[in-house]
Order: sequence, then structure tokens, then C-alpha cells
Amino acid sequence: MIELNEVTKSYARGAEELQILRGITLHIAEGDFVAIIGPSGSGKSTLMNTIGLLDSPTSGSYTLDGVATEKMSDNGLAELRNRKIGFIFQQFNLLPRLTATENVELPMIYAGIPAKQRREQAQRMLEKLGMGERGHHKPSELSGGQQQRVAIARALAISPSLILADEPTGALDSKTGIEVLELIKELNQQGNTIVLITHDHHIAVNAKRVVTLRDGEIISDLRNEMQLTPERKLEGALS
Ligand code: ATP
Ligand code: MG
Repeated sequence: MIELNEVTKSYARGAEELQILRGITLHIAEGDFVAIIGPSGSGKSTLMNTIGLLDSPTSGSYTLDGVATEKMSDNGLAELRNRKIGFIFQQFNLLPRLTATENVELPMIYAGIPAKQRREQAQRMLEKLGMGERGHHKPSELSGGQQQRVAIARALAISPSLILADEPTGALDSKTGIEVLELIKELNQQGNTIVLITHDHHIAVNAKRVVTLRDGEIISDLRNEMQLTPERKLEGALS
């Protein structure tokens, strides 16, 4: 689904060139759940923005669901992004003047879905996230965990094939963070491909695969053997 080949990203700072991503080759299959972990400044968000088509590489290639993105126009990229990718951010990024329902409707407006269908789909998504009764609330009237649920409902509204989450639990207390993480795991079990950015090992172990970035390079890429299947949990309990 995701094929990044030798992707670099650099910024000019005066006469210098700052290399933020230094030749990232990363292939992610449909249905996978990948955590990208690394210290602050290692390039995690830059990589997510690249995968999310919010930012384009300086060099290298990126193919998403078989579509080569390098030569696409900004409009083409926006169209692809709006159709395929759902975003979840640390600070939720809900629009404060809109209700929960209206926030969930936003990506469907970009996708050109008619009003009545939008409203119904938004309600369904809020219900799925346990927020069915909260549609008329503004973000400021909701707790952090509830706001993140609305943001997840919004990310899911267009049935994206890919969900990108940048520190989705970073602004939540640990109990609420665990709940949100459980929700994200469930989405993966339902078939969504997830790329989760974190600097926290305790969060990364929930993924099926953990990719470690340092100074703009992948320094390790491991299948998470520790992920306990129900059978192994049972074995563990019996032994
Ligand atoms: P954190 O864990 O703190 O969120 P990160 O791993 O997400 O860090 P990035 O946000 O990807 O790191 O930033 C990596 C580096 O790129 C940083 O040194 C940052 O200052 C630099 N950087 C990011 N965006 C830009 C930009 N638009 N212009 C110049 N430098 C940038
Ligand atoms: Mg970041």
C-alpha cells in the first residue's frame, strides 16, 4: 500500500542544507499496524507528513496504493489524500466553532458527499466511537478523550484505507490514552492500515511492527514478536 523508496527531505537554512529525511525506504502492506518511533527531532512528523501527502519529498519516490505521487499536481495530491487518508493528531485539531457532528462532516465535504448522507455517516461514526449523544457539542464542551474520539470519528468518516496518527495519546492522561490506543488497535483488527507515530516505547509495543528513526534514517525495523495473540495469552496463563 505504501512504498517509499530512497526518500529524502531537506530544507535550506541560509547557505546550508538541512537534511531531515536521509534516504528512507519503507514498504507497508495493507492491514499492517506500524509504529514509527524515535527521539524528538528524528524526523517522525516529517515522515508522517510525507506519507500523508501533506508534504512532498525532496527526492525519492512514493507510491500509495499503486499511484506514483511524485509528478502529481497539488490538486491531484489533495484529492488522493482526501479520498484515502484519515489523520489523527496529538492536539485533536478539531475546529472549535463547529460541533462534533460538523467536525466529523468536514472530510466528507472535501470528498463531495451530499449533505444528508454526510449527516447520517457522521452520526454513525460518532456512535461507533461511543459519542452518539455528543454530536451537538462544541470541542470546548468535551473532555480530551472525547475530543480525540470525535477526531477519530472524523478520520474514519471517509472510510480511509490508511490512518495516520501522530502522537494520538500525547495530550491524554494515561487511562484515556490506553482507551484511545485500544480503539486504534480495534480499527486495525477491522482491517484499517495504521501508521502510528510515537516517542514512547510503551505505546509502540502495541503495533505489529516497529520502525525506529534516528537522525532521519531508519535504524531498525522489527516485527513485534511480543504482540500476544489470544492463543499465546492463554498459553501464558496456563503455564
Ligand atoms: P517530535 O518528537 O519532537 O515531534 P519529530 O521526530 O516529529 O520530533 P520532525 O518534526 O519531523 O521531528 O522534525 C525533524 C527536524 O526537522 C527538526 O530538527 C525540525 O526542526 C526540522 N524541521 C521540520 N519541519 C521543518 C521546516 N518546515 N523547516 C525547517 N526545518 C524543519
Ligand atoms: Mg513530531
